[in-house]
Amino acid sequence: MGVVGLALAYTLVARAGLAMDAVSGFATLVWPPTGIALAALWLGGTRLWPGVLLGAFAVNVWIGAPPLPAFGVAIGNTLEALLAVWALRQVGFSASLTRVRDVMALVLLAAVASSLVSATIGVGSLFLAGIVKGAQFAATWRAWWIGDLIGDLLVAPVLLAWASQPWRKLSRRRARVGEALISVAALLAVAALAFATSGGAGASPFMEPFLLFPPLIWIALRFGPRGVSLASLLAATLAVAATVVGLGPFVRPVLHESLIGLQVFMAVTAITMLVLAAVVAERSHAESTVRESYSLLRAMIDGTTAPVYAKDRAGRVLLVNAAGAEVFGRPIAQLVGTQLAERDSATPEAEGKPYTVEETVSIKGRARTLLWTKGPYRDGQGEILGSVGIARDITEHKQTERALQQAVHARDEFMFIAGHELRTPLCTLTLELGSLERLGRRIGVDGKIMERVRKLLRQTDRLNHLIESLLEVTRLSTGRLLLKRETLDLGEVGREVVDRFAESAIRAECPLELHVQGDTTGQWDRLRVEQIVTNLVANAIKYGACKPVQVGITATASRVEIVVRDFGIGIAAEDISRIFGPFERAVSVRHFGGLGLGLYVTRQIAEAHGGTIRVASELGAGSTFVVTLPRWPDGGGWDSAAGEPEAIAPISDRAVAALPKAETTTARETGAKILILPTDRDPPPLPDPAL
Ligand code: ADP
Repeated sequence: MGVVGLALAYTLVARAGLAMDAVSGFATLVWPPTGIALAALWLGGTRLWPGVLLGAFAVNVWIGAPPLPAFGVAIGNTLEALLAVWALRQVGFSASLTRVRDVMALVLLAAVASSLVSATIGVGSLFLAGIVKGAQFAATWRAWWIGDLIGDLLVAPVLLAWASQPWRKLSRRRARVGEALISVAALLAVAALAFATSGGAGASPFMEPFLLFPPLIWIALRFGPRGVSLASLLAATLAVAATVVGLGPFVRPVLHESLIGLQVFMAVTAITMLVLAAVVAERSHAESTVRESYSLLRAMIDGTTAPVYAKDRAGRVLLVNAAGAEVFGRPIAQLVGTQLAERDSATPEAEGKPYTVEETVSIKGRARTLLWTKGPYRDGQGEILGSVGIARDITEHKQTERALQQAVHARDEFMFIAGHELRTPLCTLTLELGSLERLGRRIGVDGKIMERVRKLLRQTDRLNHLIESLLEVTRLSTGRLLLKRETLDLGEVGREVVDRFAESAIRAECPLELHVQGDTTGQWDRLRVEQIVTNLVANAIKYGACKPVQVGITATASRVEIVVRDFGIGIAAEDISRIFGPFERAVSVRHFGGLGLGLYVTRQIAEAHGGTIRVASELGAGSTFVVTLPRWPDGGGWDSAAGEPEAIAPISDRAVAALPKAETTTARETGAKILILPTDRDPPPLPDPAL
């Protein structure tokens, strides 16, 4: 249906065009069907191409061409339209012609370029059939090309522009319709002035085609591509009609010569007016985009309870919302346009990047703390145009923070006092139990009673340890750890600690091994490094699930590594980062006693010595803790092989290489001192989870 309609329209319009003096009988100076074909294939799809082929063939046969050359001409016209549509698709053409690039694409790709194909194939076919003689070839070709070109410039824009926007959107306002009618009347009036006189150029002072420009410009400015495409077509039709009947400035003795001057005029006018209309459309599109962006911005800043302002470079307020006006203590209307000095020392313009600053202001008589984020804003070239500020009311946040700080302080205070108060009676109790145990041993008291006394001693030990941990936290949270350094052998310290753990290791059924390698002397705080080994070994036994616990103390030139490895419950990957924090635990309170302070204290001690603590662990497979301590206070430099201190680096194989595989004692052969405690002594009734 579309194909037949297009073929019919093509044939009839073409026949009308050909009526106007054709060069060599076939190449007319105005060829509107080119515009129809282009618009039809663009809007209706390239599947309509048979319509163009049929129409062009029919009209050429109609005016007397033999079928074969007529077919050649039809192929040229069809290819012209298909190529134009293809090329326009490549550049993202929009039929509304509201962008300059669309007009330029139409002019260059469709009007100028695609018509070359039709002219060449068409005239070539006629030449081969002997209809166009060699002498006429150039003139016929030129007429063909320009005729098609004008069809694309005058007819296609009307169809494209009007089809691409809904008609019902046309304004029906009376003033608008009135202005349209008046502008068309003005166009007709100047057309009459310019074209209605006979006698060729110079016969009347008003017989100038550029008289048409003012009304056309008016229409281009006010009615856009749709209005001006119609007006250009109307002006061209009037000009052609006048010239055909021998009126107006383009009249020459031979009609097709007259039409050439007219064609140039029509082409230039059409292009100029289409570009003008597109520029205007682009501008109004840009204006409405800016308006929409502004209204979006306004809605956002008016909708937020956060104070917001924007200033220009001179410090004058451009924008401020109600919350901002409250902060500055003046109504919005008074603030906009006035100078507003920054109340902080920096300015966003000087900083060149966003920054935050806290400010305490009085809003409705109440002191509020605001956290401002201020920053510059720039133009497309990066030049700073002014600054914007947005604030968050952090009053409640601050109050909560203060309350929390006070609570933490009160907690530390309480722990400190409670710890001290508890320590005194506990000390007496421990001493008394100690002498009771000695006395009992001396006078040979019954074994069951002695066992009870020892159990009481272990519990007081545990209580002492818990109280010490609590006091340690209060000390750590109130300031830096003070170290009393002395020269000592860490391997020796390790041995003492492991010895001390002998009994609890037996009770927990964990074979405990110690491996010392190299010269492990250095300067550390004896009690503190003892604490490191103690905490790690205590944990390894506690969480070691009755499997071996290995302690390695290995020295390099500049540092010593304490490695404590167990094959117990392990630690989940997500818990590893937090267990070094105070009161952080990754086990159930019901199964394991403890305060979650051991690793925190260990880390503080390691760091106070300029060292690090790391852990590698797998749930169910065990954990390896590695504490690395520089041997000397000035560091003596990390040895070159070790590079930078690796606070978060994974544990190197080297660190644990000094330890034998589980259940083997090959280290015995390496000469490292090994302490293997037998596990087959009397197991105690209950393993002590703390120590
Ligand atoms: P506590 O042992 O009193 O809970 P720590 O600070 O010594 O406190 O340890 C923190 C947490 O780290 C423990 O609760 C436990 O979840 C985990 N953890 C420490 N050492 C080990 C280990 N050797 N094996 C498995 N988990 C451990």
